[in-house]
Amino acid sequence: MKTRVLILGGGAIGSAIAAHLGAEPGFEIFVLERDPSYAQASSALSAASIRQQFSTPLNIALSQYGLQVLRAAGAGLVERGYLYLASPAGAPDLRELHALQTAHGADIALLSPTQLSERWPWLATQDLALGSWGRSGEGWFDGWGLLQALKRQAQALGVQYLKGEALALRRDASGALIGVETDTDQQLHADLYVLACGAWSGALAATAGLAVPVSGKRRSVYAFRTPEPAADCPLVIDPSGLWFRPEGEGQFICGGPPLGEDADGLPLDPEPGLFEERLWPALAARVPGFESLRPQRAWAGYYEMNAFDHNGLVGPLDACPNLLLACGFSGHGLQHAPGVGRGLAEWIAHGEYRSLDLSPLTPNRIAADRPYLELNVI
Ligand SMILES: Cc1cc2nc3c(=O)[nH]c(=O)nc-3n(C[C@H](O)[C@H](O)[C@H](O)COP(=O)(O)OP(=O)(O)OC[C@H]3O[C@@H](n4cnc5c(N)ncnc54)[C@H](O)[C@@H]3O)c2cc1C
Repeated sequence: MKTRVLILGGGAIGSAIAAHLGAEPGFEIFVLERDPSYAQASSALSAASIRQQFSTPLNIALSQYGLQVLRAAGAGLVERGYLYLASPAGAPDLRELHALQTAHGADIALLSPTQLSERWPWLATQDLALGSWGRSGEGWFDGWGLLQALKRQAQALGVQYLKGEALALRRDASGALIGVETDTDQQLHADLYVLACGAWSGALAATAGLAVPVSGKRRSVYAFRTPEPAADCPLVIDPSGLWFRPEGEGQFICGGPPLGEDADGLPLDPEPGLFEERLWPALAARVPGFESLRPQRAWAGYYEMNAFDHNGLVGPLDACPNLLLACGFSGHGLQHAPGVGRGLAEWIAHGEYRSLDLSPLTPNRIAADRPYLELNVI
């Protein structure tokens, strides 16, 4: 008898789990996805960038594996690095993080303002004390391509994608899940369930009385064109919170923290005023040639924010014996999807993590009040 696994949510995370578990014998695997066009899925709306400049060793290691996968696949990877910029006040933190990142094998260089100006002459550096740049192993890629490749890989291994929305999770007296109610009037049953519904994971868990502190925080992305070539531009993280990076010839994308209240589940329209009032002035201050930029399209997606410690919740949940979580990646889940998929598939198939220990991300850390805090959430 095969073990029946139902993965709720077929974004990059759900599909990565399916693609890895599909290669293991003894499983019948289903992925329930309500929208095969992925119109609101974070995986389709992300900035699709990858970095090793994290504050937690496991996130660095997950990115290193993601990078291996992207390098092997081609996947439109542009390896031009992240450049974190710091004011005098922020420089000590940047140095501390740099020590941690390099100790874990990340190829990150610290650069003085003079070195920054030499390398990127278009960058305004007068207010800066330090930069931290990924010389290799960081950049951006084709996020949609990764999502589709993972899904195709899963389907080729026999995983079945079902179209439908999970409306409620049902549990028995022991606390275990016994089924999922869907909008097709069909109850789905499995031996093991995986919650990979991205920003919607917390709401779905709540239908079974489970507290999973994951909700959707809107983040807006703006594209612009500019005559300023900004040669060799990396993904720049400004002390103001602004980020920007190239997106093809003569075009850039940018974003930053919200202007208004960061409420849950705001409509997925780009935040009014954010670009004009905050991002454009910050862009022009950092790169004077961006003053005369021309705004292009804009969009918004949800960060699947884990309010507890801004890190993924991965693995079994003591409160519900046959439910595994794979959510809460707080805006860095696309680059970690390959590593999370591989790890969770190992746990399901072998009862342990074999290649990379994902146990620091155990959801049970919430009940134990032991945060695994990620400081570098952009
Ligand atoms: C603007 C923005 C920029 C980002 N930039 C980056 C970046 O540069 N690098 C990076 O690594 N990450 C980035 N992220 C984060 C990244 O996109 C997410 O961490 C990742 O995509 C999460 O994947 P997921 O599969 O968990 O979620 P999703 O892609 O949202 O997939 C969840 C799926 O579940 C489905 N679903 C939800 N509820 C139900 C239900 N009840 N029943 C059935 N199906 C359901 C949804 O339709 C969806 O397809 C960014 C996110 C945003 C919004």
